[in-house]
Amino acid sequence: MPTATCEPCTTDLFRGVRAVVFDVVGTLIEPSPSVARAYAEAGRRHGVELAEPDIRQRFATAWGRQEAIDAASQPAFATSRRREYDRWRLIVEEVFDEKPEAEAIFQDLWDHFGQPASWQPVVAGVMLLEQARAAGCEVAVASNFDERLVPLARVLEPLAGIDHVFASSELGWRKPAAEFFRTVESRLGRSPRELLLVGDDPRLDLAAARAVGWRAVGVG
Ligand SMILES: [Mg+2]
Repeated sequence: MPTATCEPCTTDLFRGVRAVVFDVVGTLIEPSPSVARAYAEAGRRHGVELAEPDIRQRFATAWGRQEAIDAASQPAFATSRRREYDRWRLIVEEVFDEKPEAEAIFQDLWDHFGQPASWQPVVAGVMLLEQARAAGCEVAVASNFDERLVPLARVLEPLAGIDHVFASSELGWRKPAAEFFRTVESRLGRSPRELLLVGDDPRLDLAAARAVGWRAVGVG
């Protein structure tokens, strides 16, 4: 909840902004090792060899397929814990060509990306987070990550200490849905013009936030 002591931010970037809402993956944290490396290693643990360039290509195709399914559903980009779990299961199955080992590889990867050790900070995003705090802004994260984000954010720097953690599976909407941003506004008790979105995705973060009247700035 906003507090009575929260003053409007004063630097140029944050002028008039009351709360800065950060995307998570690619903005404040990134996978380490890379997604392709993590998939390759998980495959290997279950006896499946797949080269990282092949994984990258298959992952992009599978990711895009799931995005298209959400865009075409009614209402578009509505989500749930079940849908987010299924999204990742279907992506892993497609990357590993529906092999019998794919289910075990998926469970392995689901656990992997829920572990703090699988992530590292994004320096440019961390600097903006520090600037936002120094400017007196309230800070939050809002992500298309799923239920795994909530426990992760309690212990993983630089997410630990951020008051408001919004994950799509918990909000019921994914970016770029307007409802995603409206729900965050409502939870923060802020109007669109008081909010600044910091993100790395031109479409899901920047364009989507601006479309609902927020300010937005890219990171990296
Ligand atoms: Mg991102």
